[in-house]
Amino acid sequence: MQIMVIYKNIETEIDKIEKLGKLRKKENVDFRIYLKGQDPHRIDEIVYRLNIEISKQIDCTTCGNCCMKLTPVITDQDIQRLSQRLKLKPKQIKEDYIEMAEGEQYFKYLPCVFLKEKKCTIYNDRPEACSSFPHLHKKEFISRLCGVIDNYSICPIVFNVFENLKTELNYK
Ligand code: SF4
Ligand code: SF4
Repeated sequence: MQIMVIYKNIETEIDKIEKLGKLRKKENVDFRIYLKGQDPHRIDEIVYRLNIEISKQIDCTTCGNCCMKLTPVITDQDIQRLSQRLKLKPKQIKEDYIEMAEGEQYFKYLPCVFLKEKKCTIYNDRPEACSSFPHLHKKEFISRLCGVIDNYSICPIVFNVFENLKTELNYK
């Protein structure tokens, strides 16, 4: 039997998370340095578990903050899917929705044009970078800490996983 762990004090208020991100900037950078000295496999296991448990307590359909603040990298496969979904040629998708930056393709509008009332209107065909956000299920967490700290102020899942990681590691 699987037991669902309920975390108290889960913070989902975006304004508060943004403020705490600024206030705890130094603390988070220090915690990053501390994490770099830990066993990466152990940290991956804890983060993987925290992500699953905490994600169950946060409803992305009432948030949508990543779609308002971040623009995903778009692959050619994403464009193919969008092309079928929107019934437009890939060339048209690129002209209408994509821009290049540092050799990568991105959506050019922020907030994302596909976000309506905090929900993705192309959910089943959204870009891979959207479906894998906030990337906490991936291995090598401690090699991606700069991005994690950036997302701490944007995504309630990242914020609460990071805070609970500090608690589990008895980080002062
Ligand atoms: S495609 Fe959907 S999930 Fe991705 S940024 Fe736009 S609204 Fe968000
Ligand atoms: S992934 Fe994070 S920022 Fe995006 S909708 Fe879910 S909780 Fe909000």
